[in-house]
Amino acid sequence: MERCPGSPRPDMLPEAGSLWLLRLLRDLQLAQFYRPILEELNVTRPEHFDFVRAEDLDGIGMGRPAQRRLAEALKRHRSGLKSKNWVYKIFGGFAPGQKETTPPSDSLPSLPEPDGRLKCLIPDRAVCRGELLGSGCFGMVHRGLWTLPSGQTVPVAVKSLRVGPEGPEGTELEDFLREVSVMMNLEHPHVLRLHGLVLGQPLQMVMELAPLGSLHARLTAPAPTPPLPLALLCLFLRQVAGAMAYLGARGLVHRDLATRNLLLASPRTIKVADFGLVRPLGGARGRYIMGGPRRIPFAWCAPESLRHGAFSSASDVWMYGVTLWEMFTGGEEPWAGVPPYLILQRLEKDRARLPRPPLCSRALYTLALRCWAYHPADRPTFSDLEGLLQEAWPPEGRCVREVMEPGALRMEPGDPITIIEGSLDSTTWKGQNSRTFKVGSFPASAVTLVDPPPATRPVLRGTPARGERHQRNADGDRGKAKLQDAPQARGQRRNVALQRTKGGAECAWGHPPGVPGCSKSHRGRCGFCHPEPQGRAALLPQQLVQSGLPAHPGALPVGPLGRQPLCPGPALNSVL
Ligand code: AMP
Repeated sequence: MERCPGSPRPDMLPEAGSLWLLRLLRDLQLAQFYRPILEELNVTRPEHFDFVRAEDLDGIGMGRPAQRRLAEALKRHRSGLKSKNWVYKIFGGFAPGQKETTPPSDSLPSLPEPDGRLKCLIPDRAVCRGELLGSGCFGMVHRGLWTLPSGQTVPVAVKSLRVGPEGPEGTELEDFLREVSVMMNLEHPHVLRLHGLVLGQPLQMVMELAPLGSLHARLTAPAPTPPLPLALLCLFLRQVAGAMAYLGARGLVHRDLATRNLLLASPRTIKVADFGLVRPLGGARGRYIMGGPRRIPFAWCAPESLRHGAFSSASDVWMYGVTLWEMFTGGEEPWAGVPPYLILQRLEKDRARLPRPPLCSRALYTLALRCWAYHPADRPTFSDLEGLLQEAWPPEGRCVREVMEPGALRMEPGDPITIIEGSLDSTTWKGQNSRTFKVGSFPASAVTLVDPPPATRPVLRGTPARGERHQRNADGDRGKAKLQDAPQARGQRRNVALQRTKGGAECAWGHPPGVPGCSKSHRGRCGFCHPEPQGRAALLPQQLVQSGLPAHPGALPVGPLGRQPLCPGPALNSVL
């Protein structure tokens, strides 16, 4: 009997695990596609078709009518498996279709294939891994080279799912696949791009390479790496605000915005990355409420996230403020030394906010304070922030005479100077020399402005942010948003003298003994607090500056420090 073209030769019997595919294709009289589907697209299980695009099937020569027949047959085949299927359980209508979310007004774009080269499924053999770039929650990230069918090679980053002796951990696999499903629908110049997925062992995400690594690594790079110019930090802030506005418009909340998750694609291009904690914003209130104990980055979180496990675009805005603070402190750790279980108390009872970094202008710090408004509805939106940043942008000047005076910022004629503080009526200004990257004070007469002077620029202090004038959906129980003057920070930079906490009997995450809900044996990361950064002991700042924010009606009565629940109290434990 003659073999069907493409059907397995007797010496190439189908593997037992893929017999279903052969049967299905035979029924459709498409058996000739069995090998190409198996070998070129790496599909061995029905759920793998979630990642197959029409273009992939075009690529193996399957016509569109045949593709439609296959899609119908797959639907029938899978309806019987649906309840047991891990991909359905994981994606559960969340992605790529966003079925359970507040639907964004515009439809989700699909993975772009401008030149027909990009595929969601990438064969194992087309990717080779090289040097280790870093490791995250799910596993390792390696530099890699992806060979396209044309033979052309593309530098990529390959994130592999960590596999334990008993296979991937449930939540890690879940987060990994969620990250894939989110990323494959995103396309923005400042959002890291996913090229595709390798359905091998281990599962691998093939992503755009950000050759300059994470912003946090760049901020904390030791000398002789120069610090980043302040104007560049502002540019990054604008790019991140744009990317975050884009995510919000797609009904997504990032939940882990921090400099460690911002990657440098080029010296002047930042990309938002790490979508493992991304969730859809649901319901009329546009919020996501955390269901169970999961790790969250405590020091970056808004009070409503810490207290109620509530996340929204407004809580991402709070994190954006913390990210701004990280940028202007050279990558310091927010709330360093404050035990995670006390952060909420600092924010609510003490109304403390992170102090103004010396490199941060008052206008930019005021913008950060607006991001840290207690009520989510009082925070600006990311679209507002794009405009507010423009207003808070530090003015640029140019040196007109040499400054050599002791104690003054040295400069030579022509040096570009970014002004951090100064007004027309003061004789001394503070700024950064963008040639030497040094910061200091200098005679105002040594610099001419190439921008309008700070005194004539619209200053945010005392000016309601645009975002506060309109109602927000998140936590929308507040009617008209409250307008309030953001006070100036009372303190300057947090005193850098830090002292070590006493008592070495804490768990790996800084919980003192006996914390409710904390078990020292917890493996991986603690669900109750933000994990300590690697290799850093718990540090306690001498002085945490209070922002002086006016009392808010929602401030919770909190007892004396010694009586506070050690971990986020029982109420919090129950939601986080
Ligand atoms: P993640 O698992 O996403 O937290 O990544 C862990 C680390 O790997 C990051 O902090 C980066 O240093 C590095 N990394 C992740 N993705 C990329 C990428 N696309 N390009 C370059 N480095 C990356």
